[in-house]
Amino acid sequence: MAVNIKKKVNFDERANAEVEKRAEAKAAEAPAEPKEKKGPPKRAKKTEEYYKDKYPHFIPGSLVFDPSANKQKAKIKCIECDNEDREVYTSDLFQVKTCLNCSKKKRQAKRDANAAKKEAAEAAKTQPAEAPAAEAKSA
Ligand SMILES: [Zn+2]
Repeated sequence: MAVNIKKKVNFDERANAEVEKRAEAKAAEAPAEPKEKKGPPKRAKKTEEYYKDKYPHFIPGSLVFDPSANKQKAKIKCIECDNEDREVYTSDLFQVKTCLNCSKKKRQAKRDANAAKKEAAEAAKTQPAEAPAAEAKSA
């Protein structure tokens, strides 16, 4: 009888130890993942290579972490005029490839083209109606 009880205790102890071991292993695994996700230094080194490969206008060595926005920024070399002054968030690298000046020029050119198109369409429509008004003004 005594032997049986001892055996049972041993079994329970072993089972408990096993459960504890598993819990410990799980606990040791769990915090490891979120820890790796954080930490800008490790990430910054990785992304520098990544951006260099992916975006030709990215200037290597310009990658910095902006704590106020909690984002990384980098400088770009304008694909139009080679200006290197523009700093953008890395999340915008895929769409921002020109300096502010060239972007402005591009935007203005687009606006001008649209305006010219609209004007031409408008002129074709309103030309007959406008002519008498202009005549009346000059008269
Ligand atoms: Zn430019």
